[in-house]
Amino acid sequence: MEKSQGLLIVLSGPSGAGKGTLCQELLRQMPSLRYSVSLSTRSPRPGEVEGIHYYFGTRNEFESMIARDELLEWAEFCDNYYGTPRFAVEQALQEGLDVILEIEIQGALQIKKRFPQGVFTFIVPPSLDVLSERIHKRGTETEEVIQKRLAKAIQELEYVSEYDYVVVNDEVPVAVDKLKSILVAEKCRVKRK
Ligand code: 5GP
Repeated sequence: MEKSQGLLIVLSGPSGAGKGTLCQELLRQMPSLRYSVSLSTRSPRPGEVEGIHYYFGTRNEFESMIARDELLEWAEFCDNYYGTPRFAVEQALQEGLDVILEIEIQGALQIKKRFPQGVFTFIVPPSLDVLSERIHKRGTETEEVIQKRLAKAIQELEYVSEYDYVVVNDEVPVAVDKLKSILVAEKCRVKRK
């Protein structure tokens, strides 16, 4: 059989839903999966490493990449730009590797237009109270930023229907198992969208 293209997996969900944790755990358990490192204009949080968590750049650098069509998608989220560098994703997919993007909704909708065969999964917290608690516990944002992100989360929940799957992230191991099951099923799929 001919080697097929890899799967493009998109994870979205409100800030604090735990996408990052789920993604890390998924990558640990599925070493063949590739994580697309995004470009962002926000400042690094403590512990974030350039080239691993994000490529951190200025607005000018970001805008130059847009102009050169080097981003697969991009969006402005809570006053910062975020985008997916095109080259690494396209190359990995062509090599038959599965690639995971952890991106917000506007970006996911752009990807859906270009890659309708992608696997679009929305991660939700068990409740808004849990979400607020998680963002506060992270302790990396000011109260003003937290309130902006919580307001955004409520808006974002309305977009669940744009996605193929929804996973409630209550307990991490359970949510990771659900994500793995989704990927296994998608790898066995006969009919493409
Ligand atoms: P954070 O600042 O919390 O790391 O990310 C804020 C939001 O931006 C999250 O919803 C995250 O998934 C999203 N995000 C991260 N990278 C990208 C990207 O490359 N493109 C888009 N559209 N959103 C991204």
